[in-house]
Amino acid sequence: MSEQFTEKESTASQQADVTIVGGGMVGASLALLLSSLNLGWRIQVIEAFPVSAASPDTLQPSFDARSTALSHSSREIFEILGLWKTLNTRLADIRDVHVSDRGHIGSTRLRAEEQNLPALGYVVENQWLGSVLMEALQGSDNIEIIAPATVEEVSPVQGGTELCLSTGLDITTKLLVIADGAQSNTREKLGIDATTNDYGQVAVVANVSLSQSHNNIAYERFTDSGPMALLPLLPINEASIDNVGLDKEYRSALVWTLPPERAEEVIAASESEFLALLQDRFGHRLGQFKRVGSRHSYPIRLITSNEQVRSNLVVVGNAAHSLHPVAGQGFNLALRDVAVLANELALAADAGSELGELKVLQGYIERQQMDQKQTILLSDLLPKVFTIGAAPIALARNLGLLALDAVPLFRHQFARLGMGLETRGTLLDKSLSHNQPQKVSQHG
Ligand SMILES: Cc1cc2nc3c(=O)[nH]c(=O)nc-3n(C[C@H](O)[C@H](O)[C@H](O)COP(=O)(O)OP(=O)(O)OC[C@H]3O[C@@H](n4cnc5c(N)ncnc54)[C@H](O)[C@@H]3O)c2cc1C
Repeated sequence: MSEQFTEKESTASQQADVTIVGGGMVGASLALLLSSLNLGWRIQVIEAFPVSAASPDTLQPSFDARSTALSHSSREIFEILGLWKTLNTRLADIRDVHVSDRGHIGSTRLRAEEQNLPALGYVVENQWLGSVLMEALQGSDNIEIIAPATVEEVSPVQGGTELCLSTGLDITTKLLVIADGAQSNTREKLGIDATTNDYGQVAVVANVSLSQSHNNIAYERFTDSGPMALLPLLPINEASIDNVGLDKEYRSALVWTLPPERAEEVIAASESEFLALLQDRFGHRLGQFKRVGSRHSYPIRLITSNEQVRSNLVVVGNAAHSLHPVAGQGFNLALRDVAVLANELALAADAGSELGELKVLQGYIERQQMDQKQTILLSDLLPKVFTIGAAPIALARNLGLLALDAVPLFRHQFARLGMGLETRGTLLDKSLSHNQPQKVSQHG
């Protein structure tokens, strides 16, 4: 079992091999990937919130009421970690993706069947993902979770980085991984600047129940006020063990992008007003919207760290790049990043390099550069292109959608891009895929 420090520690120093600041989706996944390498490293995860798989309602913010569309590349990585089987007990498959432009004729449908795949992607509720990841973290022999704790001071030293934590603990680590989210405090403390591009939009997120089955279709609808996505979820009595016996209630996860003032209005609206507004914007492809769960909002910004690696230091996840959620790529990209990072570290260890060597970390960035560029560009361009109302551009994008609908090869390429198959390169060579996961989650 991993140790967990919750009390104020003595000011004694600890030595670690890898210290990950931030135990959200990305930090936790990286810790498990590194642990599965079995290289005898002392791995630490420092998390600001208490960590407990047993009470998913109080998990850290990464694992809130949102849902995440997982791509094939993410499935592959969770399979390597031995977590896919457990995750899969509460995932909804995306069999088709329907893309449309409100008020225009162009639309297209990407089908898993056409790509010879069982699904184009999978929708996981973040709370479930969090509870599976936290259980695996807590069950690992070589991961220490230090929570709740934050980094008060951080400074580079010869061959590593020194950290002083809010608990009073001092750590010297060979490799510091910054995974504390888009507004990364640790990145800032080290003087690493980030470039922010505010889209002037807010994502309103809620689960909605439907009068009919979604048939495992994900809808991406572009409107003049911003894109909206409705992702299929499991019916409530299949998703939650606590609700067995309830009538089967079909549900989708809504991500509705709006200007901030409109977002405030829809958040404050009564349930019936909200459902009527949603019905008006989305139409009746999913039948009637019957109920809406709690609504949350997230400001949308493209934030990219100006540096991702230094000697003994790497920035990952939202701290490295936080994307527009429209294409559902932020976590999928970050997971490919950390899988490649773990792989590069393992290869370097085999070759006798010191953990944290700059040229190894630069090698990781070189390998992921193209994937990061393409995925960021896709997530950045899509919402922009679809909010331009000018007639020639609206015509061009509708011709684009019609072409996508008419030409199977275009659809194939577009689907591969969305599934993370086009950009991932050689995700996991040698070491990672040859290592067996250390612990299999005890769920299910
Ligand atoms: C509305 C919405 C929908 C999305 N949908 C998708 C999708 O469908 N598919 C997809 O791939 N991506 C999606 N994303 C993106 C995805 O949520 C992010 O990529 C992901 O959350 C990034 O995880 P992270 O661990 O890097 O950061 P975070 O989730 O921000 O986690 C950071 C962690 O660090 C901790 N922390 C913060 N500061 C400190 C500190 N000083 N010390 C210690 N710990 C600290 C926090 O408590 C938290 O646990 C979506 C995002 C949004 C907003």
